[in-house]
Amino acid sequence: MKYGIVGSSGRMGRELIEVFGPENCVATISLEDETILDSPEVIVDFSRPEALKRTLEVCREYRSALVLGTTALTEDHMVQVKELAQSVAVVQGYNFSVGIGVLRMILRQYAPALSEWDVEISETHHIHKVDAPSGTAITLKKEVGRDCPTHSLRMGGVPGDHSVSFANEGEVLTLTHRAISRKVFAMGALQAARFAIGQQPGLYDFEEVVSCALKR
Ligand code: NAD
Repeated sequence: MKYGIVGSSGRMGRELIEVFGPENCVATISLEDETILDSPEVIVDFSRPEALKRTLEVCREYRSALVLGTTALTEDHMVQVKELAQSVAVVQGYNFSVGIGVLRMILRQYAPALSEWDVEISETHHIHKVDAPSGTAITLKKEVGRDCPTHSLRMGGVPGDHSVSFANEGEVLTLTHRAISRKVFAMGALQAARFAIGQQPGLYDFEEVVSCALKR
């Protein structure tokens, strides 16, 4: 698979190149540099919202599928992503770990049964993370199906911890996901890239990739 990375010099970019294999990397885009050696089948963007304009241009020019992991995208950005998805397959997600995909499914199914309980979400990430709350916390809140307090900690080198706690007067139920290393997101992005290359144009959520993998 010939691929390109947007955000290639970043923490996730370096991890992605290691997991996808440096030999098939035909394009790298970052603040420092842009190199396109060949036509990428898929572009993988884990960078900043400001890079999206160039990402969309490159996907259009080479008809590349897109795996989009950048967080803090606005509604306007998503309108532009949906426009691209009319001509190529786009897999977007604020968390490319399988465990969070499964946690989302659990919450969607069982949170309604706890609608009378208090619920709060907490997330911890490394001190370099720019946005808060995390895109994943925002997604989990949507799955809970009601507004609830969200707490963000920025400490050390934590790749990403998320907890959803429910409580009533007599009991507490906490569901926690911990990413032990960034590699897990890169491996999810690789699954998403393989999925995207075989798909019709459209906007796919990473959860669809997880569902396909669970059915196998
Ligand atoms: P980082 O700061 O280490 O790297 C950012 C990269 O983006 C750098 O290569 C930088 O040069 C590049 N960049 C910044 N602005 C740019 C621009 N205008 N044009 C081109 N390139 C630009 O960040 P990181 O920790 O690697 O995280 C990158 C993104 O991935 C963040 O949005 C983060 O929240 C997200 N992320 C998503 C997941 C997921 O599963 N979806 C997991 C981890 C991180």
